[in-house]
Amino acid sequence: MPLFDYHCQACGHDFETLVRTGTMPACPQCQSTALEKCLSRISPAGKIEGIRMAHRRVAAAQGHFDHYSPSDKAKLLQGKKNI
Ligand SMILES: [Zn+2]
Repeated sequence: MPLFDYHCQACGHDFETLVRTGTMPACPQCQSTALEKCLSRISPAGKIEGIRMAHRRVAAAQGHFDHYSPSDKAKLLQGKKNI
Protein backbone atom coordinates (compact mmCIF):
# COMPACT_ATOMS: atom_id res chain seq x y z
CA MET A 1 0.00 0.00 0.00
CA PRO A 2 1.35 3.42 -0.86
CA LEU A 3 1.97 5.98 1.85
CA PHE A 4 0.59 9.44 1.09
CA ASP A 5 0.85 12.82 2.75
CA TYR A 6 -2.41 14.69 3.25
CA HIS A 7 -3.32 18.18 4.29
CA CYS A 8 -6.77 18.53 5.86
CA GLN A 9 -8.58 21.50 4.36
CA ALA A 10 -11.05 21.56 7.24
CA CYS A 11 -8.68 21.85 10.20
CA GLY A 12 -5.27 22.27 8.56
CA HIS A 13 -3.88 19.07 10.08
CA ASP A 14 -1.05 17.44 8.10
CA PHE A 15 -0.69 13.68 8.27
CA GLU A 16 0.50 10.72 6.28
CA THR A 17 -1.48 7.57 5.87
CA LEU A 18 -1.55 4.30 3.97
CA VAL A 19 -4.28 4.40 1.35
CA ARG A 20 -5.90 1.49 -0.42
CA THR A 21 -6.72 2.16 -4.05
CA GLY A 22 -10.28 3.40 -4.37
CA THR A 23 -10.72 4.42 -0.74
CA MET A 24 -10.78 7.94 0.66
CA PRO A 25 -8.91 8.56 3.90
CA ALA A 26 -10.34 10.80 6.61
CA CYS A 27 -8.51 13.32 8.78
CA PRO A 28 -7.48 11.59 12.04
CA GLN A 29 -8.16 14.83 13.90
CA CYS A 30 -11.56 16.00 12.61
CA GLN A 31 -12.69 13.03 10.44
CA SER A 32 -13.10 15.36 7.45
CA THR A 33 -12.58 13.89 4.00
CA ALA A 34 -11.85 17.34 2.52
CA LEU A 35 -8.20 16.41 2.08
CA GLU A 36 -5.53 17.64 -0.23
CA LYS A 37 -3.06 14.99 -1.32
CA CYS A 38 0.48 16.34 -1.01
CA LEU A 39 3.61 15.24 -2.70
CA SER A 40 5.81 13.83 0.03
CA ARG A 41 7.95 16.52 1.56
CA ILE A 42 10.50 13.84 2.28
CA SER A 43 10.63 11.71 -0.86
CA PRO A 44 10.37 7.92 -0.41
CA ALA A 45 13.67 7.59 -2.27
CA GLY A 46 15.25 9.83 0.36
CA LYS A 47 13.81 7.70 3.14
CA ILE A 48 15.12 4.54 1.51
CA GLU A 49 18.51 6.17 0.98
CA GLY A 50 18.54 7.18 4.65
CA ILE A 51 17.80 3.61 5.73
CA ARG A 52 20.46 2.30 3.35
CA MET A 53 23.04 4.71 4.75
CA ALA A 54 22.15 3.69 8.30
CA HIS A 55 22.65 0.02 7.38
CA ARG A 56 25.96 0.88 5.73
CA ARG A 57 27.13 2.66 8.87
CA VAL A 58 26.23 -0.40 10.95
CA ALA A 59 27.92 -2.71 8.44
CA ALA A 60 31.04 -0.55 8.43
CA ALA A 61 31.11 -0.51 12.24
CA GLN A 62 30.82 -4.30 12.28
CA GLY A 63 33.45 -4.78 9.59
CA HIS A 64 30.98 -6.00 6.93
CA PHE A 65 30.61 -9.39 8.62
CA ASP A 66 26.82 -9.08 8.87
CA HIS A 67 26.23 -12.22 6.81
CA TYR A 68 28.39 -14.42 9.01
CA SER A 69 27.15 -16.24 12.09
CA PRO A 70 28.43 -14.86 15.43
CA SER A 71 30.91 -17.75 15.81
CA ASP A 72 32.27 -17.32 12.27
CA LYS A 73 32.46 -13.59 12.89
CA ALA A 74 34.52 -14.20 16.02
CA LYS A 75 36.87 -16.49 14.06
CA LEU A 76 37.27 -13.92 11.30
CA LEU A 77 37.91 -11.14 13.78
CA GLN A 78 40.40 -13.38 15.60
CA GLY A 79 42.16 -14.12 12.30
CA LYS A 80 42.30 -10.42 11.56
CA LYS A 81 44.03 -9.70 14.85
CA ASN A 82 46.71 -12.29 14.10
CA ILE A 83 47.63 -10.67 10.77
ZN1 LIG B 1 -8.95 17.75 9.87
